[in-house]
Amino acid sequence: MEKMKAIVVTPEQGTEIVKKKLRPLKSGEALLKMICCGVCHTDLHVKNADFGDVSGRILGHEGIGEVVEVADDVTSLKVGDRSSVAWFFEGCGHCEYCTTGRETLCREVKNSGYTVDGGMAEYCIVTADYSVKVPDGLDSAPASSITCAGITCYKAIKEANLIPGQWILISGLGGLGNLAVQYAKEVFNLKVIGVDINDTQLNFAKESGADILINPLHEDVGKVVHEKVGGVHGAVVTAVAKSAFNQAVDALRAGGTVVAVGLPSESMDLSIPRLVLDGIEVKGSLVGTRQDLAEAFQAGAEGKVIPKCEMRPMEDINEIFEEMEAGKIQGRMVLEL
Ligand SMILES: [Zn+2]
Ligand SMILES: [Zn+2]
Repeated sequence: MEKMKAIVVTPEQGTEIVKKKLRPLKSGEALLKMICCGVCHTDLHVKNADFGDVSGRILGHEGIGEVVEVADDVTSLKVGDRSSVAWFFEGCGHCEYCTTGRETLCREVKNSGYTVDGGMAEYCIVTADYSVKVPDGLDSAPASSITCAGITCYKAIKEANLIPGQWILISGLGGLGNLAVQYAKEVFNLKVIGVDINDTQLNFAKESGADILINPLHEDVGKVVHEKVGGVHGAVVTAVAKSAFNQAVDALRAGGTVVAVGLPSESMDLSIPRLVLDGIEVKGSLVGTRQDLAEAFQAGAEGKVIPKCEMRPMEDINEIFEEMEAGKIQGRMVLEL
Protein backbone atom coordinates (compact mmCIF):
# COMPACT_ATOMS: atom_id res chain seq x y z
CA MET A 1 0.00 0.00 0.00
CA GLU A 2 0.99 3.59 -0.67
CA LYS A 3 1.83 5.72 2.31
CA MET A 4 -1.16 7.51 3.86
CA LYS A 5 -1.56 11.06 5.16
CA ALA A 6 -2.01 11.26 8.93
CA ILE A 7 -2.21 13.98 11.58
CA VAL A 8 0.35 13.26 14.27
CA VAL A 9 1.25 14.94 17.54
CA THR A 10 4.64 16.68 17.41
CA PRO A 11 7.13 16.99 20.31
CA GLU A 12 6.51 20.78 20.22
CA GLN A 13 2.91 20.06 21.25
CA GLY A 14 1.47 20.94 17.87
CA THR A 15 0.40 18.64 15.08
CA GLU A 16 1.65 18.01 11.57
CA ILE A 17 0.47 16.04 8.59
CA VAL A 18 2.96 13.30 7.77
CA LYS A 19 3.08 10.32 5.41
CA LYS A 20 2.86 7.03 7.29
CA LYS A 21 3.09 3.44 6.16
CA LEU A 22 0.35 1.07 7.29
CA ARG A 23 1.25 -2.31 8.73
CA PRO A 24 -0.60 -5.44 7.52
CA LEU A 25 -3.75 -6.50 9.42
CA LYS A 26 -3.47 -8.92 12.33
CA SER A 27 -6.07 -11.43 13.44
CA GLY A 28 -9.33 -9.77 14.56
CA GLU A 29 -8.62 -6.46 12.84
CA ALA A 30 -10.31 -4.42 10.13
CA LEU A 31 -8.97 -1.65 7.93
CA LEU A 32 -11.09 1.48 7.59
CA LYS A 33 -10.70 3.97 4.76
CA MET A 34 -11.50 7.06 6.80
CA ILE A 35 -14.31 9.35 5.65
CA CYS A 36 -14.21 11.99 8.39
CA CYS A 37 -13.15 12.61 11.99
CA GLY A 38 -14.43 15.18 14.47
CA VAL A 39 -12.10 17.38 16.50
CA CYS A 40 -12.71 17.19 20.24
CA HIS A 41 -11.47 19.11 23.28
CA THR A 42 -9.80 15.87 24.38
CA ASP A 43 -7.62 15.98 21.23
CA LEU A 44 -6.44 19.40 22.34
CA HIS A 45 -5.46 17.97 25.74
CA VAL A 46 -3.68 15.03 24.08
CA LYS A 47 -1.66 17.20 21.69
CA ASN A 48 -0.79 19.63 24.52
CA ALA A 49 0.64 16.64 26.44
CA ASP A 50 -1.80 17.26 29.32
CA PHE A 51 -2.10 13.46 29.68
CA GLY A 52 1.60 12.79 28.95
CA ASP A 53 3.84 13.00 25.90
CA VAL A 54 2.48 10.98 22.97
CA SER A 55 4.38 12.63 20.12
CA GLY A 56 4.20 10.61 16.90
CA ARG A 57 0.73 9.29 17.74
CA ILE A 58 -2.05 9.74 15.14
CA LEU A 59 -4.82 11.80 16.74
CA GLY A 60 -8.57 11.30 16.48
CA HIS A 61 -11.34 9.46 18.31
CA GLU A 62 -14.44 10.65 16.46
CA GLY A 63 -13.70 8.84 13.24
CA ILE A 64 -15.98 7.22 10.71
CA GLY A 65 -14.60 5.08 7.90
CA GLU A 66 -15.58 2.48 5.36
CA VAL A 67 -14.34 -1.06 5.87
CA VAL A 68 -12.03 -1.94 2.96
CA GLU A 69 -10.37 -5.08 4.33
CA VAL A 70 -10.89 -7.52 7.22
CA ALA A 71 -8.66 -10.24 8.68
CA ASP A 72 -9.72 -13.82 7.86
CA ASP A 73 -11.27 -14.48 11.27
CA VAL A 74 -13.42 -11.30 11.44
CA THR A 75 -17.20 -11.83 11.42
CA SER A 76 -18.51 -8.61 13.05
CA LEU A 77 -17.66 -6.29 10.12
CA LYS A 78 -17.57 -6.80 6.39
CA VAL A 79 -16.13 -4.85 3.47
CA GLY A 80 -18.44 -1.94 2.62
CA ASP A 81 -19.75 -1.38 6.18
CA ARG A 82 -19.25 2.04 7.74
CA SER A 83 -17.77 1.83 11.22
CA SER A 84 -16.41 4.02 14.00
CA VAL A 85 -13.13 4.89 15.72
CA ALA A 86 -14.18 5.91 19.25
CA TRP A 87 -12.23 7.00 22.36
CA PHE A 88 -12.96 3.54 23.83
CA PHE A 89 -10.84 1.65 21.30
CA GLU A 90 -10.66 -1.68 23.14
CA GLY A 91 -10.93 -3.27 26.59
CA CYS A 92 -9.26 -6.48 27.82
CA GLY A 93 -12.55 -8.35 27.50
CA HIS A 94 -12.21 -10.43 30.67
CA CYS A 95 -11.88 -8.19 33.75
CA GLU A 96 -14.64 -7.35 36.27
CA TYR A 97 -15.53 -4.18 34.31
CA CYS A 98 -15.46 -5.71 30.84
CA THR A 99 -17.73 -8.57 31.92
CA THR A 100 -20.29 -6.43 33.78
CA GLY A 101 -21.25 -3.79 31.20
CA ARG A 102 -18.73 -1.22 32.40
CA GLU A 103 -16.02 -1.82 29.82
CA THR A 104 -14.94 1.84 29.65
CA LEU A 105 -13.57 1.43 33.20
CA CYS A 106 -11.28 -1.45 32.12
CA ARG A 107 -7.82 -0.88 33.61
CA GLU A 108 -6.22 -2.18 30.40
CA VAL A 109 -8.29 0.09 28.17
CA LYS A 110 -6.86 1.41 24.92
CA ASN A 111 -7.95 4.85 23.71
CA SER A 112 -7.93 5.93 20.06
CA GLY A 113 -5.73 8.88 19.25
CA TYR A 114 -3.99 8.59 22.61
CA THR A 115 -2.67 5.13 23.52
CA VAL A 116 -3.21 3.76 19.99
CA ASP A 117 -3.29 5.49 16.59
CA GLY A 118 -6.60 7.18 15.91
CA GLY A 119 -8.85 8.25 13.07
CA MET A 120 -7.32 11.49 11.75
CA ALA A 121 -5.69 9.75 8.81
CA GLU A 122 -6.60 8.34 5.42
CA TYR A 123 -6.75 4.84 6.93
CA CYS A 124 -7.15 3.39 10.41
CA ILE A 125 -6.78 -0.16 11.73
CA VAL A 126 -9.41 -1.12 14.32
CA THR A 127 -10.19 -4.19 16.40
CA ALA A 128 -13.29 -5.29 14.51
CA ASP A 129 -15.31 -6.49 17.50
CA TYR A 130 -14.80 -3.14 19.25
CA SER A 131 -15.62 -0.88 16.30
CA VAL A 132 -19.33 -0.01 16.29
CA LYS A 133 -21.11 -0.08 12.93
CA VAL A 134 -22.89 3.07 11.73
CA PRO A 135 -26.52 2.35 10.83
CA ASP A 136 -27.89 3.21 7.37
CA GLY A 137 -29.72 6.51 7.43
CA LEU A 138 -27.10 8.25 9.57
CA ASP A 139 -24.65 10.39 7.60
CA SER A 140 -20.95 10.10 8.41
CA ALA A 141 -20.43 13.67 9.70
CA PRO A 142 -23.21 13.57 12.34
CA ALA A 143 -22.14 9.99 13.15
CA SER A 144 -18.65 11.28 13.95
CA SER A 145 -20.10 13.74 16.50
CA ILE A 146 -22.21 11.01 18.08
CA THR A 147 -19.10 8.80 18.39
CA CYS A 148 -17.85 11.04 21.21
CA ALA A 149 -20.11 13.98 22.14
CA GLY A 150 -23.37 12.14 21.45
CA ILE A 151 -22.55 8.95 23.30
CA THR A 152 -21.17 10.93 26.24
CA CYS A 153 -24.48 12.79 26.65
CA TYR A 154 -26.62 9.76 25.99
CA LYS A 155 -24.78 7.67 28.56
CA ALA A 156 -24.74 10.45 31.19
CA ILE A 157 -28.52 10.83 30.95
CA LYS A 158 -28.92 7.05 31.14
CA GLU A 159 -26.84 7.08 34.34
CA ALA A 160 -29.34 9.46 35.96
CA ASN A 161 -31.94 6.64 35.84
CA LEU A 162 -34.94 8.81 35.05
CA ILE A 163 -38.36 7.95 33.69
CA PRO A 164 -40.33 9.85 31.02
CA GLY A 165 -41.87 13.08 32.27
CA GLN A 166 -39.31 13.72 34.99
CA TRP A 167 -37.19 16.87 35.14
CA ILE A 168 -33.53 16.96 34.20
CA LEU A 169 -31.16 19.89 34.42
CA ILE A 170 -28.47 20.17 31.75
CA SER A 171 -25.69 22.53 32.76
CA GLY A 172 -23.35 23.81 30.04
CA LEU A 173 -25.09 24.08 26.68
CA GLY A 174 -22.15 24.06 24.26
CA GLY A 175 -21.66 21.28 21.69
CA LEU A 176 -22.05 18.57 24.33
CA GLY A 177 -24.89 20.14 26.30
CA ASN A 178 -26.92 20.90 23.20
CA LEU A 179 -26.81 17.25 22.21
CA ALA A 180 -27.75 16.36 25.80
CA VAL A 181 -30.88 18.52 25.49
CA GLN A 182 -31.83 16.70 22.29
CA TYR A 183 -31.27 13.24 23.77
CA ALA A 184 -33.14 14.17 26.97
CA LYS A 185 -36.16 15.48 25.04
CA GLU A 186 -36.36 13.16 22.05
CA VAL A 187 -35.04 9.85 23.35
CA PHE A 188 -35.72 9.87 27.10
CA ASN A 189 -38.90 12.02 26.99
CA LEU A 190 -37.74 14.18 29.88
CA LYS A 191 -38.58 17.77 30.72
CA VAL A 192 -35.44 19.88 30.44
CA ILE A 193 -34.00 22.86 32.27
CA GLY A 194 -31.01 24.31 30.44
CA VAL A 195 -28.37 26.31 32.32
CA ASP A 196 -25.58 28.36 30.76
CA ILE A 197 -23.94 31.75 31.28
CA ASN A 198 -24.00 32.40 27.51
CA ASP A 199 -27.29 33.68 26.05
CA THR A 200 -26.49 32.42 22.54
CA GLN A 201 -26.16 28.88 23.89
CA LEU A 202 -29.39 29.33 25.90
CA ASN A 203 -31.26 30.32 22.72
CA PHE A 204 -29.77 27.38 20.85
CA ALA A 205 -31.00 25.07 23.65
CA LYS A 206 -34.46 26.60 23.44
CA GLU A 207 -34.57 25.81 19.72
CA SER A 208 -33.60 22.24 20.61
CA GLY A 209 -36.62 21.98 22.90
CA ALA A 210 -35.45 22.94 26.42
CA ASP A 211 -38.52 23.81 28.54
CA ILE A 212 -36.95 26.27 30.98
CA LEU A 213 -33.71 28.24 30.58
CA ILE A 214 -31.66 29.82 33.34
CA ASN A 215 -28.62 32.09 33.15
CA PRO A 216 -26.79 31.80 36.52
CA LEU A 217 -25.29 35.27 36.00
CA HIS A 218 -28.77 36.72 36.48
CA GLU A 219 -30.67 34.14 38.55
CA ASP A 220 -30.07 31.74 41.45
CA VAL A 221 -30.32 28.32 39.78
CA GLY A 222 -31.32 26.31 42.86
CA LYS A 223 -33.95 28.84 43.94
CA VAL A 224 -35.57 29.16 40.50
CA VAL A 225 -35.64 25.40 39.93
CA HIS A 226 -37.27 24.70 43.32
CA GLU A 227 -39.83 27.48 42.80
CA LYS A 228 -40.77 26.41 39.30
CA VAL A 229 -40.70 22.59 39.40
CA GLY A 230 -39.91 21.59 43.01
CA GLY A 231 -36.37 20.52 42.16
CA VAL A 232 -35.04 18.31 39.35
CA HIS A 233 -34.86 14.50 39.47
CA GLY A 234 -31.49 14.48 37.77
CA ALA A 235 -28.76 16.80 36.51
CA VAL A 236 -26.02 16.34 33.92
CA VAL A 237 -23.15 18.78 34.19
CA THR A 238 -21.05 19.26 31.05
CA ALA A 239 -19.78 22.70 32.13
CA VAL A 240 -16.13 22.90 33.16
CA ALA A 241 -16.70 25.00 36.30
CA LYS A 242 -17.01 24.12 39.96
CA SER A 243 -19.91 26.58 40.33
CA ALA A 244 -21.94 24.61 37.77
CA PHE A 245 -21.60 21.45 39.88
CA ASN A 246 -22.67 23.26 43.03
CA GLN A 247 -25.68 24.81 41.28
CA ALA A 248 -26.71 21.38 39.97
CA VAL A 249 -26.59 19.90 43.48
CA ASP A 250 -28.66 22.84 44.80
CA ALA A 251 -31.27 22.25 42.10
CA LEU A 252 -31.83 18.55 42.90
CA ARG A 253 -34.92 17.34 44.73
CA ALA A 254 -34.54 14.65 47.40
CA GLY A 255 -33.45 11.35 45.86
CA GLY A 256 -31.97 13.17 42.87
CA THR A 257 -28.83 12.23 40.96
CA VAL A 258 -26.11 14.49 39.63
CA VAL A 259 -23.99 13.08 36.80
CA ALA A 260 -20.60 14.69 36.18
CA VAL A 261 -19.24 14.86 32.63
CA GLY A 262 -17.26 18.13 32.59
CA LEU A 263 -13.80 17.95 34.14
CA PRO A 264 -12.86 21.06 36.11
CA SER A 265 -9.73 20.26 38.14
CA GLU A 266 -11.42 21.16 41.43
CA SER A 267 -13.70 19.59 44.05
CA MET A 268 -17.42 20.20 44.31
CA ASP A 269 -19.19 21.23 47.53
CA LEU A 270 -21.67 18.69 48.78
CA SER A 271 -22.54 18.77 52.45
CA ILE A 272 -22.77 15.35 54.09
CA PRO A 273 -26.19 16.11 55.69
CA ARG A 274 -27.53 16.99 52.21
CA LEU A 275 -26.06 13.76 50.84
CA VAL A 276 -27.49 11.59 53.64
CA LEU A 277 -30.77 13.27 54.57
CA ASP A 278 -31.81 13.97 50.96
CA GLY A 279 -30.43 10.74 49.53
CA ILE A 280 -28.44 12.55 46.85
CA GLU A 281 -26.49 10.43 44.37
CA VAL A 282 -23.33 11.60 42.63
CA LYS A 283 -21.95 9.77 39.60
CA GLY A 284 -19.18 10.28 37.10
CA SER A 285 -19.76 9.21 33.51
CA LEU A 286 -17.08 8.62 30.88
CA VAL A 287 -18.07 8.20 27.20
CA GLY A 288 -20.01 4.90 26.92
CA THR A 289 -19.87 1.23 25.97
CA ARG A 290 -20.22 -0.24 22.48
CA GLN A 291 -23.89 -0.91 23.20
CA ASP A 292 -24.40 2.71 24.32
CA LEU A 293 -22.82 3.89 21.05
CA ALA A 294 -25.07 1.62 18.98
CA GLU A 295 -28.11 3.11 20.79
CA ALA A 296 -26.84 6.68 20.43
CA PHE A 297 -26.25 6.09 16.68
CA GLN A 298 -29.77 4.68 16.30
CA ALA A 299 -31.32 7.89 17.69
CA GLY A 300 -29.31 9.78 15.07
CA ALA A 301 -30.43 7.43 12.28
CA GLU A 302 -34.06 7.99 13.31
CA GLY A 303 -33.58 11.76 13.10
CA LYS A 304 -34.28 12.30 16.80
CA VAL A 305 -30.89 13.87 17.41
CA ILE A 306 -29.18 16.16 14.91
CA PRO A 307 -25.59 17.16 15.77
CA LYS A 308 -24.48 20.52 14.45
CA CYS A 309 -21.24 20.08 12.54
CA GLU A 310 -19.08 21.81 9.97
CA MET A 311 -16.76 20.07 7.51
CA ARG A 312 -13.17 21.30 7.28
CA PRO A 313 -10.13 20.11 5.31
CA MET A 314 -7.51 18.03 7.13
CA GLU A 315 -4.98 20.86 6.67
CA ASP A 316 -7.04 23.11 9.00
CA ILE A 317 -6.24 21.08 12.11
CA ASN A 318 -3.92 23.56 13.84
CA GLU A 319 -6.26 26.43 12.98
CA ILE A 320 -9.17 24.50 14.52
CA PHE A 321 -7.18 23.96 17.72
CA GLU A 322 -6.50 27.71 17.88
CA GLU A 323 -10.20 28.47 17.43
CA MET A 324 -11.00 25.91 20.11
CA GLU A 325 -8.57 27.46 22.58
CA ALA A 326 -10.09 30.87 21.85
CA GLY A 327 -13.59 29.46 22.53
CA LYS A 328 -14.74 30.42 19.02
CA ILE A 329 -16.29 27.09 18.02
CA GLN A 330 -20.05 26.47 17.84
CA GLY A 331 -21.02 22.85 17.29
CA ARG A 332 -18.46 20.36 16.02
CA MET A 333 -15.61 20.77 13.53
CA VAL A 334 -15.25 17.63 11.41
CA LEU A 335 -12.21 16.92 9.26
CA GLU A 336 -12.86 15.58 5.80
CA LEU A 337 -10.36 12.77 5.16
ZN1 LIG B 1 -14.05 13.40 22.12
ZN1 LIG C 1 -11.16 -5.21 30.98
